[in-house]
Amino acid sequence: MTGLTMKHWINGEEVAEEGVQVLDIDSPTTGEIIGGVAEASVELVERAIQGAREAQKGWAALSLARRTRVLFNFRNLLVERQEELAEIIVREGGKTRGDALGEIARGLEIVEFACGIHNALKGEYSSEVSTGVDIHTIRQPVGVVGAICPFNFPMMVPMWMHPMAIATGNAVVLKPATPVPTVSLTVAKMYQEAGLPDGVFQVVTGDKQVVTTLLESDGIDAISFVGSTPVAKIVAETSARTGKRYQALGGANNHAIVMPDANLDFAAKHIVSGAFGAAGQRCMALPVVVAVGSAGDALIEKVKALAEKLVVGPGENAESELGPVISAKSKARIIDWVTDAEKNGARVVLDGRDFKPADESLSGGNWLGPTIVDNVPLETKLYCEEVFGPVLTIVRADSYEEAIKIVNSSEFGNGSAIFTESGDYARRFELDVETGMVGINVPIPVPVGYYSFGGWKSSLFGDIKMHGQEGVNFYTRQKVITTRWAGKSDEHVGLDFVASA
Ligand code: NAD
Repeated sequence: MTGLTMKHWINGEEVAEEGVQVLDIDSPTTGEIIGGVAEASVELVERAIQGAREAQKGWAALSLARRTRVLFNFRNLLVERQEELAEIIVREGGKTRGDALGEIARGLEIVEFACGIHNALKGEYSSEVSTGVDIHTIRQPVGVVGAICPFNFPMMVPMWMHPMAIATGNAVVLKPATPVPTVSLTVAKMYQEAGLPDGVFQVVTGDKQVVTTLLESDGIDAISFVGSTPVAKIVAETSARTGKRYQALGGANNHAIVMPDANLDFAAKHIVSGAFGAAGQRCMALPVVVAVGSAGDALIEKVKALAEKLVVGPGENAESELGPVISAKSKARIIDWVTDAEKNGARVVLDGRDFKPADESLSGGNWLGPTIVDNVPLETKLYCEEVFGPVLTIVRADSYEEAIKIVNSSEFGNGSAIFTESGDYARRFELDVETGMVGINVPIPVPVGYYSFGGWKSSLFGDIKMHGQEGVNFYTRQKVITTRWAGKSDEHVGLDFVASA
């Protein structure tokens, strides 16, 4: 092993355990082992939870001004040290540097929202709702939040959670994804430097055992989860059984409809970016295009011309546009699904299955070139499931009506898009489509930080989305307070449940 095993972060210091299982961190770029990630024991996770419970009380009791000052400091540290953070993401996740900086920038939006949390926490007040009676609301933290994250956004997805949870007065126990844990330790140290009291942000590494402990522990009040749909379902079911508030965001298979009236040059450019950015490993990637009528052939030609020019290479190289996929297992699965679709009648228009990097020292990495597959049968895995790789699947439809039926038949409902110059089709799509996030000529409609992020159907279990006002609502419980003062109440004692008077 060429790297060290990452430590946990508990009560403001690095912690290691003896005699536990250590999983390898493999470089997606070279295939070499570059570090290790320990599976925390149940006792250690419980210690982190208990530390968080103790720290949370004092943190929640601090004024909003003092809490937001810490978040401002944290925000400034993130900006100053984004290159260092991006370097870790590139090394462990195989992303390009630009994409790593991009995810930090999108996460930063949430930190900036959290810096203004006083606004979002304002309550409601109604005066004189009955004679001498006023009513108002306050929002209080839920307590300790278990945050469980996927590999594809080692900074951004945790930042959908911890700045919001911390700003609203909670403590967080974060479990980063096993292939990309290290950046979370750097984040923990930055929170400490920003003035966050020890214990309010804890990091424990590991896999299933750590997740199970968080889900089962009485010390955890709420679970924020982002990952694949099968695990999101486990998280939702267990959280419901153990009486926790939860939000569990799952997988996706986002579609874009391209209408014959679309500006095809514009659409092609954005489809290439949506399908191949981050090697297709985004929950808001655009792996499926439904081309309507005459749009199909011309669009494929334009998309192919752009995609074959993409520079595939290591994230450290400034010119690289497309990095490797996360694991050898992912790569094998993606190739399998493309081959299966081909066997079932699809046409491979651009084939990246055999891509080899020019630099032979990278041959152990998980490389795939951009791949485009046309006329993919709707029964194949390539169409139905989440490919999570640099593959664009194209299906054909004769009309808008047929296209929207295809889009809405998907098990997933994360994002969707339409490319058209027609306001009428755009408006119909906005109303008809069964996804939580919709783009009109926008391929990856990720909402800005002060709106909320989340899908429909198998893309989200629980009712509450991430960040924005829904994030505030998730991490707080509302109280409604009805007030009367003795000086005003001169009526007799009545036992009736009367209407306002
Ligand atoms: P994953 O579901 O394999 O892992 C997510 C987390 O769950 C990890 O921390 C992992 O350690 C843990 N985990 C894995 N298996 C578990 C099990 N059996 N029991 C308990 N915990 C378990 O997901 P991934 O491969 O890391 O990430 C990719 C997936 O995440 C894709 O499906 C992608 O669409 C999804 N994702 C969704 C969104 C969204 O907003 N909906 C955002 C990013 C990623």
